[in-house]
Amino acid sequence: MRKLVTVRKIKDILPIKGADRIEIAVVNGWECVVLKDEFKINDVIAYFEIDSFLPIVPEFSFLEKTSKRKMGEKEGLRLRIVKLRGQLSYGLIMSYKSLERFFIEKDVVDEWTLDADITDIVDVIKYDPPIPASLAGETRGIFPSFIRQTDQERIQNLFDEYSDLYKDVEFEASLKLDGTSCTFYIADINEMSVKITDDMDIQNNAYFGYCSRNLEKVENEDSSPWKIAHSGIKEKMHKHHLDTGKNFAIQGELMGPKIQKNREKLLKPEFFLFDIWDSDKRRYMSRTEREIIVNLLEVQHVPIIKERIKVFQEFNNIKELLEFAKGKSITHDIREGIVFKSVEPIDGEIISFKVINSDFLLKSED
Ligand code: AMP
Ligand code: MN
Repeated sequence: MRKLVTVRKIKDILPIKGADRIEIAVVNGWECVVLKDEFKINDVIAYFEIDSFLPIVPEFSFLEKTSKRKMGEKEGLRLRIVKLRGQLSYGLIMSYKSLERFFIEKDVVDEWTLDADITDIVDVIKYDPPIPASLAGETRGIFPSFIRQTDQERIQNLFDEYSDLYKDVEFEASLKLDGTSCTFYIADINEMSVKITDDMDIQNNAYFGYCSRNLEKVENEDSSPWKIAHSGIKEKMHKHHLDTGKNFAIQGELMGPKIQKNREKLLKPEFFLFDIWDSDKRRYMSRTEREIIVNLLEVQHVPIIKERIKVFQEFNNIKELLEFAKGKSITHDIREGIVFKSVEPIDGEIISFKVINSDFLLKSED
């Protein structure tokens, strides 16, 4: 689960040109507008990231005017990027004092420590737009334990650490597409902990499965991800498994009509592969390993913006990197952002992160 609300330290306080009642508080790589003199450098505070969905309670009542929203049946307060006096503001900063009731009522006063994840304590969940009916499908179970769920950490939480650790590392920059996450896997039922049911289609001891972002789905004929699977992917993954014995999962973004805003104006559902999980080695494949399978399966890959870039030599700070994230998507004028992945594994793991385009965050309504 994403740590939406954490205890952190204010790294810096900066003025905003032409504004005398507000200023910027810097928390890791995030800039957040606060009232002047409300906080000072080194204050330990709660930082709420964008996409937090807050309960409607007195502590957060100051947000009701601007942020009230429904998620399904539930009403709450959704944190978004905002622009104030020309300054972008990400998230929300609050003091312990102003959140104290949560800690006292839950009897967890001790949990206020630097870096603690306090998302549950303050009753925050992640805001997720509704899933279109064409994708819902019948659930088969939870996401398989032998595959990593798709996710990317935001660079604002990593920049300082990564710019030291990965100065000389080359990254691949790919377009971040705004669709819905889709995982297709092939697994030997004797080697992997595949959930077994009567209705499943097992071939040569292998099962082909499809999962949405968080759940595994039952095979059917009409949902768009299964149509994509049945257009050749399932068959080719079975064949590759039979030939090599390899267990793996391809992950990509499903894009098309009724998915998100379909900003790319696609006429039919399309799958754009962005990663391949090696279930035997329990890590993401490197780019060269990924290319072999992409060619074999004849699937579309997400557009690559730059094949190799030493991100932390090329960009001196987050501002420069955020600037690079701006630009066109496939057909849409404003892309969601860029995902960077190390070209090779580092200590056995591919390192990756996302850089979201602030123009996209400001424009998107959902
Ligand atoms: P978010 O959409 O903000 O939750 O960011 C993480 C998600 O981005 C992943 O779960 C993927 O579904 C999606 N994504 C879109 N494009 C890419 C890409 N090029 N590489 C990796 N993930 C991507
Ligand atoms: Mn997304």
